[in-house]
Amino acid sequence: MTVPILRRLADLREQHATWIRAGELVGVVPTMGALHAGHLSLVEAAKATCDRVIVTIFVNPRQFNSPEDLAKYPRTERADAEKLAPFDVDVVYVPDPDQIYPDGYATSVSVEGITDVLEGTFRPGHFDGVATVVAKLFLQTGAHKAFFGEKDFQQLMVVRRMARDLDIPIEVVGCPTVREDSGLAMSSRNMRLSAEALDKAGRLYPAMTGCADRLAAGETFDQIEPEARAALQAAGFGEIEYLDLRCADTLAPLQTPTRPARLLVAAWLDGVRLIDNIAVPQLSD
Ligand code: AMP
Repeated sequence: MTVPILRRLADLREQHATWIRAGELVGVVPTMGALHAGHLSLVEAAKATCDRVIVTIFVNPRQFNSPEDLAKYPRTERADAEKLAPFDVDVVYVPDPDQIYPDGYATSVSVEGITDVLEGTFRPGHFDGVATVVAKLFLQTGAHKAFFGEKDFQQLMVVRRMARDLDIPIEVVGCPTVREDSGLAMSSRNMRLSAEALDKAGRLYPAMTGCADRLAAGETFDQIEPEARAALQAAGFGEIEYLDLRCADTLAPLQTPTRPARLLVAAWLDGVRLIDNIAVPQLSD
């Protein structure tokens, strides 16, 4: 089965209009391509609840912090189309760059507050790029539901806030992180890791679940943090940009998981920046 690829907004709109006339429910899965099982789980979730599914593939230059990172980002359109074929999606929208940022484009969407911490601290402007492109993709696809991974937990919160604040009539659905057997969260960036580095990367998830267990047993974050950092460094990780326990609703720092909490990490390994997060069981008062 070949996958129908559209590259122009006008063609997408034409297709979309026929679905809306038929009263169909449209879902969208925004991606930057280099698809793996994590992305495909979002496609599956969309297929399960929507009549029509659009997968978007757009490597958004505005959300990258360095031209090198953007240049190194994998672009694998043909392989992506092959991976999507079994899922019977209705359209793969791979917009030409001028369909997103035409000449003279001057508008940016910026979400305040929750973007000031964690990824926002280390990737200035990143979430403006994300919020801008996702707002455009929501409006261009006219989807009723959008599917995002909890792998990018803060991004999921930013996208939800943006859609709510701009009254975009779309339901943002968060889907669980898909992991390798080692526990490593699947990511397009993992492709840049050597076999040896992948082995080291597999130590991240057990370290995080170890932290979550200790927090759930009543230790405070300050008590466990030094050992957790040392364990990651011993595993071969370089700079740990953040390792934090945060409130899952506001991202405010927490010492103990007395409310829904998330442990979030960003760390470098062999020149690749990895991020991950897990829920921490809540302590009863
Ligand atoms: P990206 O192509 O990296 O921008 O990711 C596109 C979407 O896939 C985002 O909503 C991500 O959160 C989601 N995603 C990426 N990796 C995973 C994963 N391992 N499990 C679930 N969702 C993921």
